[in-house]
Amino acid sequence: MNRPVVGVLAVQGDVREHVRALGEAGADAVPVRRPAELAAVDGLVLPGGESTTMSRLVKVFELLEPVRARIAGGLPVYGSCAGMIMLAGTVLDGRPDQESFGGIDMVVRRNAFGRQVDSFETDLAFAGVQGKPMHAVFIRAPWVERTGPEVEVLARVSGGVADGRIVAVRQGNLLATSFHPELTGDLRVHGLFVEMVLGAAKEAGHAADAQTIEEAVR
Ligand code: GLN
Repeated sequence: MNRPVVGVLAVQGDVREHVRALGEAGADAVPVRRPAELAAVDGLVLPGGESTTMSRLVKVFELLEPVRARIAGGLPVYGSCAGMIMLAGTVLDGRPDQESFGGIDMVVRRNAFGRQVDSFETDLAFAGVQGKPMHAVFIRAPWVERTGPEVEVLARVSGGVADGRIVAVRQGNLLATSFHPELTGDLRVHGLFVEMVLGAAKEAGHAADAQTIEEAVR
């Protein structure tokens, strides 16, 4: 597979920015609004926006259960900001009727930085990416308050009132950041995600090959 097909959930949020970043990072990016479009992608991005609205609209577009099913099936998914909230097993300070897809064993708090600062920018060390610290833009962002044993912490805020807060995580094929790399032109997070998508496709290919061989020799 040369360029994987990566969908961007397109019910609400900064879809265009993710489509552009994915294209530059080596994927063919397509908007996803219907279950049939979801079925055709090798990976999915959940954009920034407003998780309460996204939660409502994925039900209207009949995508809540199909996305959950694909996550359970191992689909690589990356969520930024509101997208991180959509991947959280538990959401604090959400609306009572707000639902997430889940998938990452973590507790996130919506608008967590808001009490001190609504939006801010800072530089972060991001595990697994090469080069200079990552410039991160936070807009009414969540932070990760607790993580389960299978969750890898990739980045924390360093310094200031939110010092030490977790803002990037990975669990298996699921990746989430509190901040918006789609807005800064730094392609390293999207690049990491495209690598994850290629890796998952390769593994699925090996599994399919193994099954074909097994059937052939039976
Ligand atoms: N505060 C928004 C939410 O709760 C997230 C903001 C963002 O995605 N920039 O969903």
